[in-house]
Amino acid sequence: MRTLFRLTGLVKPYFWWMALAALIGFATTGSGIGLLMTSAYIIAKAALQPPMVTLQLGIAGVRFFGLARGVFRYAERLISHNVTFKILAKLRVWFYDAIEPLAPARLMQFKSGDLLQRIVDDIQSLENIYTRVLGPPLTALLVSLLMWFLLGVYSIQAALLILFFHTLAGIGVPLLTRQLSRGVSIGIMNYKAEEQVLALDLFQGIGELQLYGKMPTHLAAIRSAETGKLQLQRKNAVIEGLHESLTGLLMNGALITILWALIPSISTGAVNGISLTVITLAVMASFEPFLPLPSTLKHLEADQHAGERLFEILDAKPETTSPPAPRPFPADHAIQVEQLSFTYPGSTIKALDRLTFSVLPGEHIAIVGPSGAGKSTLTSLFMRFWNTSEGSISIGGHNISLFDPEVLRRNIALVSQRTYLFAETIRENLILAAPDATDNDLKKALTAAGLSDFTSKLDEWCGQHGMKLSGGERQRIAIARILLQCAPIMILDEATANLDGVTEREVTETLNAISAGKTLITITHRLKAMEQYDRIIVMEKGKIVDQGVHGELMTRDGLYRRMWELQHTVEVL
Ligand code: ADP
Repeated sequence: MRTLFRLTGLVKPYFWWMALAALIGFATTGSGIGLLMTSAYIIAKAALQPPMVTLQLGIAGVRFFGLARGVFRYAERLISHNVTFKILAKLRVWFYDAIEPLAPARLMQFKSGDLLQRIVDDIQSLENIYTRVLGPPLTALLVSLLMWFLLGVYSIQAALLILFFHTLAGIGVPLLTRQLSRGVSIGIMNYKAEEQVLALDLFQGIGELQLYGKMPTHLAAIRSAETGKLQLQRKNAVIEGLHESLTGLLMNGALITILWALIPSISTGAVNGISLTVITLAVMASFEPFLPLPSTLKHLEADQHAGERLFEILDAKPETTSPPAPRPFPADHAIQVEQLSFTYPGSTIKALDRLTFSVLPGEHIAIVGPSGAGKSTLTSLFMRFWNTSEGSISIGGHNISLFDPEVLRRNIALVSQRTYLFAETIRENLILAAPDATDNDLKKALTAAGLSDFTSKLDEWCGQHGMKLSGGERQRIAIARILLQCAPIMILDEATANLDGVTEREVTETLNAISAGKTLITITHRLKAMEQYDRIIVMEKGKIVDQGVHGELMTRDGLYRRMWELQHTVEVL
């Protein structure tokens, strides 16, 4: 229920639009009832062959209601769709605003297919909150009141009977169908989510699945989710058929009992034959707005589930937030890491354990160590993807938590192992780093990054995940990005690890050229051209185990020399 209140709170700004749509929805159904009533009046009255003039009012009524019904229906559709799209736009913006600060730390616990489903399908399902959940009961209630009033004029008994049957159609049937279809909508949503996760794994991991012969098992899992979904959808269709028949049955029940209640009044003159005909058709027409009510409850259940899934993400607290009065980024870029420790949530092992080191402005340092030493964790803390558990990182004497995270990230250029390219053009992928860059700036950056061939291909599509580019070209796009970013500090996190030997050397040369005069932290487990660094910090199991220049470290019998010898022996072999 709390979720429903939160959801209705979201659509509150459109309350008056929704009220107007409900009112016009009522006017549409009311016109339908009026059309049938006036038609019945004319037919019944004409059968008695009265003078034409007595039919004038009825004829005018038919014309009015016939036209009004179409106009009202159009206006109602227009307004309700307008409201729906306004709600959809608001939900998407609201969700994006909320989800952005959660990346990447808080989003790690969700599978990407599941996240995608929440963003696309769950929000899509919520867009119908007005047209399917809030609107129909309101229209049905207004029509019921109208009929109650109309029949009350002739007979209290008939008014009570219509109230009884409307209550059954409006509350009884929806509750019954809800009982029968309990869990069906949620089940369908869950199967869809499962299918999406499996499909995404299939596309992204198709190579591995084929390599390890797991394709049949994976396809079987997709098929099983599909079968489960189809079974529930079939059950859904049967239940829908049932509620339509039940509403039809109730309409006929109402008709028979109301006729039974009113026919005796004909002899007393309280009701005449014409009125009876009019009432009969009005009763039939009045059940129309009750038909969508059972699905209202079903949508309510689905919307509540979708809402819970969305709020689950939105209620997660961002790992890093901007301080109330952020410090401007200092001109002094000296970095000081003091007694820095970090433990991932849910883990008992320290990924980083009391690290202390400093980097002078313009200094080039390398942080090396075997896999799992904590090097990438350090990058994540520098970029404030995570907050430090203990200790601090300062730039220019200010703790980095005092800066706006966005400002911090603009001033630290990061090239990681795998550069993500969006399925967009080269231009779009570059201007991420500098939205105001001109074509000339982009071309200059591409040339400096060693991609002069690309200067004429700014509008070429990069392919899904940049698939149309080679690994080296993707890393060079990342270099062009950091050139555009003009950040004083650069972090290269295994930036050349995925490249072949020749490309690695070329990309490294370009990186060296562009990092001149900047503070550079290179994070790597591959010890290549280490002589160029002013200092090398050696890490193992989250701790700094040694530091110095290459020559110095090679004289000691430590981890660095062991790693160097191992890598170079393997290379020679
Ligand atoms: P490196 O970059 O040196 O290979 P990492 O910084 O990636 O090392 O990892 C350091 C330690 O933290 C490892 O023990 C790794 O298993 C753990 N770790 C890394 N990322 C996560 C995570 N998201 N959640 C939990 N533990 C993690």
